[in-house]
Amino acid sequence: SKSLGKNKHTFFTEGIKDKVNEQQFIETSMHKAITNNEFSLVYQPRITVDDYGLDGFEALLRWNHPEKGNVPPNMFIPVAEKNLQILDIGRWVLDAACQKIQSWVSDGLQNFRVSINVSTVQLHRADLYTEIANALSKYKISGQYLEIEITETAILKDEKSAIKKLEHIKTLGVRISVDDFGTGYSSLSKLRSLPIDVLKIDQSFMADISDDIQAADVLGGIIELAKRLGLTTVAEGVELSAQHDVLISQHCDQAQGYFYAKPLLENVADGYVQECIGK
Ligand code: C2E
Ligand code: CA
Ligand code: CA
Ligand code: CA
Repeated sequence: SKSLGKNKHTFFTEGIKDKVNEQQFIETSMHKAITNNEFSLVYQPRITVDDYGLDGFEALLRWNHPEKGNVPPNMFIPVAEKNLQILDIGRWVLDAACQKIQSWVSDGLQNFRVSINVSTVQLHRADLYTEIANALSKYKISGQYLEIEITETAILKDEKSAIKKLEHIKTLGVRISVDDFGTGYSSLSKLRSLPIDVLKIDQSFMADISDDIQAADVLGGIIELAKRLGLTTVAEGVELSAQHDVLISQHCDQAQGYFYAKPLLENVADGYVQECIGK
């Protein structure tokens, strides 16, 4: 696993020596990625802390490059945001997620959500409301099955306009979730003025909670205040059963992480859904 980790980081260095070339390479091959069918979504289960029940899935983008193999999103999304290809990619993600929702609904899965990550560029440069409305009607699904995840930094970038857009999107029944909470500069009191439904607490908060009472208290404080604001709380990056125990004692609603399940390939997620329906 040490060599796997190393490969992940040295991935592009072979033959392509500097960062500029690497970005250019990503940029040119990304142009063809959609038409060449190189993108896919994996689905990470989000579970209810109390009973391990399935609340839904977060859809995460994967790019399988014909020569380079799997290119991690943290490597190509920033490039796509810079050259605005994220607008096309984001539409592709929205379409694929809605198609998946339709198929799970028709399988008989009830009361679940699929969340997709939406970049700040999409929020501010695309007509996200219309795109979402079109995707929902294309697949004839209710907005209640869809959730969009946006970082607090993205919302605060052009706050007034972001709030207006998010409020409009919410009229479709789509839920809004704040991603990576705690990594930006905003405070819990700031959240009060935002039209949001879900708070995803960044995985950095999980680091010490199982052996440091103060860290667990900090997390507990965030959860308590978020709930007072009427938000659903989701802990990200839960890897250990000891962390899960703290989430129970601090009354966190939901959680996501390797402890429960890794992001699943589409067909594996399908099997997971079948199991849930069977119960
Ligand atoms: P994120 O939205 O915060 O997604 C969570 C990341 O944490 C995912 O990485 C996921 O695989 C990983 N993860 C899940 N459970 C655990 C755990 O227990 N431990 C650890 N260490 N990691 C865990 P991934 O899939 O590599 O995605 C990285 C980031 O790329 C995402 O962070 C998100 O910001 C971005 N991203 C992914 N898909 C999309 C997309 O469709 N659109 C946009 N705009 N961004 C995306
Ligand atoms: Ca996310
Ligand atoms: Ca996150
Ligand atoms: Ca992130």
